[in-house]
Amino acid sequence: MKLGSIEAGGTKFVCAIGNEKGEIFESEVFPTCSPEITMESVVSFFKNKGIEALGIGSFGPISLNPKSEDYGSITTTPKILWQNYNILKKLKENFDIPVGFDTDVNVAALGEYTWGGAKGLNSCFYMTVGTGIGAGIIAEGNMIHGLLHPEAGHIIVPKHPDDTFEGVCPFHKNCLEGLASGPAIEKRWGKKGNELPSDHVAWDIEAYYIAVAMVQTILMVSPERIILGGGVMKQSQLFQKIRNKTAKLLNGYIKVPAVTLNMDEYIIPPVLGDNAGICGGLALAARELKKQEGKSVSVKI
Ligand code: ADP
Ligand code: ZN
Repeated sequence: MKLGSIEAGGTKFVCAIGNEKGEIFESEVFPTCSPEITMESVVSFFKNKGIEALGIGSFGPISLNPKSEDYGSITTTPKILWQNYNILKKLKENFDIPVGFDTDVNVAALGEYTWGGAKGLNSCFYMTVGTGIGAGIIAEGNMIHGLLHPEAGHIIVPKHPDDTFEGVCPFHKNCLEGLASGPAIEKRWGKKGNELPSDHVAWDIEAYYIAVAMVQTILMVSPERIILGGGVMKQSQLFQKIRNKTAKLLNGYIKVPAVTLNMDEYIIPPVLGDNAGICGGLALAARELKKQEGKSVSVKI
């Protein structure tokens, strides 16, 4: 089965052809310019390749309600040229096949759930800590949408007692993204994260904020696994600090082995590495195909 996958990001679009086993046969990267230019390249990449379905993980916010008129659009993005652009419609016009559409992070979560760090489980939480912070949630085998879709990067977190930084989020200043994203680290310390030594105090503060998010997540969503990706999480020393701090903040309240004994296997980096999103797109395409064939979509492919 030949499937298409698109990881639509604010700086680049990754397009790939693969199959229902998550194998990738070919891929190409296009810069995110205007929708007209970028989507032209995307459409010609997939033309005449014989794909049976397509899965898209997109930057957002996006409209995911099939009943809404703007279903398939990128909505209030600060990227002006893409505001209200209907990416799903454009692809549907060009390809008469099932097309799945979801947030970049929900799709990365789906990739890890299907073939990666949450394989064999029924739920997982995937968070990326990069230019922004975003999270995708799989619960009972399905990606969570609800009202809009999760926007976990903007949860309000208590300030670290030693942190005087005001935060960079244009909406909330000191939300999680405002305090712990890559740009927040750069502004707070005057250096990019990859230029700071691994024993810098920056990473204790960073781990504290992410641990607070872990605690909120564990208490509110109860995922069976948490996967942390994105550029900032390339600082691998963060993982142990986050696990320790999360356990400390939970203070023995959640008495399940994943948290009390196996934190090393509970909060983990993406097993699919940088391919979580593009593999997730293949899984989404396969699900969309099954959905159109009238089969259950909550079962694993
Ligand atoms: P994006 O979020 O734009 O898709 P990334 O996930 O790579 O892309 O995140 C980019 C952010 O991560 C930047 O702010 C960058 O400074 C930061 N970053 C990238 N690599 C590292 C690293 N090795 N250590 C710390 N921060 C990093
Ligand atoms: Zn915010």
